[in-house]
Amino acid sequence: MSDAERAGAWTNWSGAIACRPAAVLHPRDDAEIAAVLARAAAAGQCVRPVGSGHSSSALCATDGVLLALDHCTGIERFDPSSGRVTVRGGTVLHDLGHALRRHGLALANLGDIDRQTVAGAIATGTHGTGRALGNLSSQVVALRLVSADGAMRDVGADAPELLAAARVSLGALGIVSAVTLQALPAYRLHERTERISLTDVVARFASEAAAHRHFECFYFPRHGFAEAKALDPTTAEPASVAGVEGERIGWSHEILPSVREQKFHEMEYAVPEDAGVACFEALAARLRARHPAVAWPLEIRTVAADDAWLSPAYGRATCAISVHQDGRKPHEDLFADLEPIFWEHGGRPHWGKWHRCDAKRLAGRHPRLADFAALRERLDPDGRLLNAHLRALLVG
Ligand SMILES: Cc1cc2nc3c(=O)[nH]c(=O)nc-3n(C[C@H](O)[C@H](O)[C@H](O)COP(=O)(O)OP(=O)(O)OC[C@H]3O[C@@H](n4cnc5c(N)ncnc54)[C@H](O)[C@@H]3O)c2cc1C
Repeated sequence: MSDAERAGAWTNWSGAIACRPAAVLHPRDDAEIAAVLARAAAAGQCVRPVGSGHSSSALCATDGVLLALDHCTGIERFDPSSGRVTVRGGTVLHDLGHALRRHGLALANLGDIDRQTVAGAIATGTHGTGRALGNLSSQVVALRLVSADGAMRDVGADAPELLAAARVSLGALGIVSAVTLQALPAYRLHERTERISLTDVVARFASEAAAHRHFECFYFPRHGFAEAKALDPTTAEPASVAGVEGERIGWSHEILPSVREQKFHEMEYAVPEDAGVACFEALAARLRARHPAVAWPLEIRTVAADDAWLSPAYGRATCAISVHQDGRKPHEDLFADLEPIFWEHGGRPHWGKWHRCDAKRLAGRHPRLADFAALRERLDPDGRLLNAHLRALLVG
């Protein structure tokens, strides 16, 4: 290892997760990824792939090798007839959105931001909102996996079980060096935002979520109101709503993501869709009663069911509910006080956000967790890709 490769401290986006890896390495292709894995194995080091570091659970923390694909970016292949695009794993979603637009295409959905890498976003089941829209991993039709022993696998429709496991893999099955996504023809969205009461959220959420392509609410318990946001496809020009308060029109990759400059901590659970509003109400009540100083919002979104083994929306239509806290303020006690409400409502944690789950707690919640753990063991019997956080989730 050269001095240039020797790393200092690494922290995630929020600053809450820190580690001191022995090295942060930036391979340029699959052969270099395999070489990093082989060298680390020979040195007895753990390897953790990292994307943009936007996860706030300890998925990437390691004192071994942090493997970043920031030199493995861009579109590898594009098939105009099918709208399928193969993109290298380290590509940032923001860059992908602009590149797809140049081909007249767009992703079916995005989350709240577009700063994540493609491989990092799918690995945790990152999602946006939309009752008929699955998380980003549900747009994946194939991927390329470099497993711990350096073997390269093209995983596609001919290996449906492996694909369903590898789409949301927490970086535990190997390094995802490329992802093939099913894109859509580029589309414009019309955004309408309005301020509503908690009573309105409770009364209207289900019908509004059914009526719009995207619908979400941010409730601010300290201030007693919610911001509701509805987005629908349109062919209208942006100028048609210029000057209209709370409305705008633009291409999907411009309208869907927000810019989040202020750091925050976040806990999110995926609960069955029909338990979503009750869970949201219970969280709002506890926030108001016990944590009146919290100024950050409680958020509720919808995600369609999918079949990726570790997807929080596996097999069930979902409401994703998030609690936020200022990044400069303590969050552990707040989240620990609210988390049982999610468990009581059948919640599954967002893998990339704060939670206190382990294999035992998750066993009854994730029907394919044991299958995933067994597959992981087969692909990486020496646990080269495991850190302490993943051991607790996948080994127990
Ligand atoms: C401001 C903000 C807004 C967010 N908004 C949303 C949202 O709207 N919806 C939502 O669902 N989530 C959201 N998140 C969470 C975020 O989308 C996820 O944590 C996502 O996984 C982060 O992507 P990343 O590229 O930063 O990956 P990292 O956080 O760096 O890594 C995430 C996981 O991917 C693995 N990984 C990374 N690269 C590879 C690779 N090449 N091969 C294999 N595994 C790999 C890592 O090992 C790790 O397990 C948000 C987070 C922040 C900070």
